[in-house]
Amino acid sequence: MIDLVVRHFALPLRHPFTISRGTVDVQDTVIVQLHQDGLFGYGEATTNPYYGATVESLTRRIAAVAPRLHAASADDLDGLLDTAAALLGADTFAHCAVDLAIHDLWGKRRGGPLHRLWGLDPAAGPLSNYTIGIDTPERMAAKLAEVPDWPVYKIKLGTDRDLEIVRELRRHTAKPFRVDANCGWTPRQAIELSGPLAELGVEFIEQPLAADDPGMAEVYRRSALPVFADESCGVEADVDRCAGRFHGINIKLVKCGGLAAARRMIARARELGLAVMCGCMTESSVGISALAQLVPLLDHVDMDGAALLAADIAHGVVVEAGRRRYPDHAGTGVELLGGPLAA
Ligand code: MG
Repeated sequence: MIDLVVRHFALPLRHPFTISRGTVDVQDTVIVQLHQDGLFGYGEATTNPYYGATVESLTRRIAAVAPRLHAASADDLDGLLDTAAALLGADTFAHCAVDLAIHDLWGKRRGGPLHRLWGLDPAAGPLSNYTIGIDTPERMAAKLAEVPDWPVYKIKLGTDRDLEIVRELRRHTAKPFRVDANCGWTPRQAIELSGPLAELGVEFIEQPLAADDPGMAEVYRRSALPVFADESCGVEADVDRCAGRFHGINIKLVKCGGLAAARRMIARARELGLAVMCGCMTESSVGISALAQLVPLLDHVDMDGAALLAADIAHGVVVEAGRRRYPDHAGTGVELLGGPLAA
C-alpha cells in the first residue's frame, strides 16, 4: 500500500536568473512523496512556462494518480513505472516527479543507492558545470568571480552582446566554457559565432536555434563547434531526429518524464553516436539527487540547480565545485529537511 502526498514549495534563488526567455527570482516546485511501511520516496518537478507546467496542473495530475498507487507495492518497480507512464505520459513534468519518487522508494526498500542497484561506478562520469545567467558582461563576470572553484562554466547567451560577454568572462578565468543560446540565434548567427567562440575556449553550443528550425542541419555541418540539442530533444521520440542535426543531446528529467525514460534515451543516443549530457532546472536537491544517479553514464552534466538556490528543502547528493558527493542513503539519497510531509 503506497500513500502519495504532493506539495508545492517556493525555492528562493541566490541571484535572479535570466535566460533568453525571461527572469526568475523564486522558482516554484512540486514535491511528490510516496510512503510505504515507514520508508519515503521523493520526486520533484519544477514549474515552467515554456513547457506549460504550473503548480495547479502538476498538483492536480499527480494527485489523480494516488488511488492507482494505493493498492500497489513499491517492490513492483516495473509495474509502478508502467502505471505512471500510462496515467501521466502526456505531462512529462508530472510524470517525472512521480517516476523519481517511485525510483527513490524502490531503492530505499532495496537498501542501496540507485546507481549501485543499476551497476554503475559512482566515481565515473563528468564534473558539473556552473551556469552563469544573462546579465551585463560586467555583472556576469562578477557572478563568475563568486564561484571560482567550478571546473567549467555554462554561459547563457542569446543577447545582442554575446561575443562581448564571452570575451569579458574569458578575462577572468582560463577554465572551459560551454554556451547555451536557448533558441536565441538564427542559423547565420550560430555559424558566424561558432568560430570566435571556439577561439575563446568554448567547447560546445547548446540549442542555438528554435526547437524546430530547419536551419539546424546546415548549422550542424558548418559550425566550428559541436552543437547540443536541449529544447529540440524533449522526449524519447526526439532522439532519432537529433542524429544529423546535432552532435549531442541534453536530457532533462522533467522534459522526458523521469529516470526510466532518461536511461532509454541515453542508450538510444549511444546507438546513434550522439554525445550525451544531462541538465537540470533550477531545482532542489530532490531532483538533483535523482539526476546524480545517472552521471556515470554521461559525457557532460549540468547539475548546479540546487547550488543556485538561497535555501534548499532537502538533504541528498551535494554538488560543490562541480564534484558530487553521494550521501550514505539508499534510493536517490533524499530526505526532506523538514521531515516527511503530513498527509
Ligand atoms: Mg539549455
